[in-house]
Amino acid sequence: MKRASVDAALCVSCGMCADVCPEVFSLGESHRANGGPVPEAALAAALDAMADCPVGAIALSTNDED
Ligand code: SF4
Repeated sequence: MKRASVDAALCVSCGMCADVCPEVFSLGESHRANGGPVPEAALAAALDAMADCPVGAIALSTNDED
């Protein structure tokens, strides 16, 4: 399963990723976004969020052991 990560140093807390793909992204207590495992059904939305993040803070990685 792919995993989304957010670079907290870049995130500007706009909330877009959590709006576009709430299955994967949420805003933490610091209001920086948190990523997590990306279910297959949420992959397209996660890719949209990654592409649209205004500061390029989102990355997707693959862990074949998941
Ligand atoms: S879209 Fe990017 S900048 Fe906005 S909350 Fe998500 S990770 Fe942060």
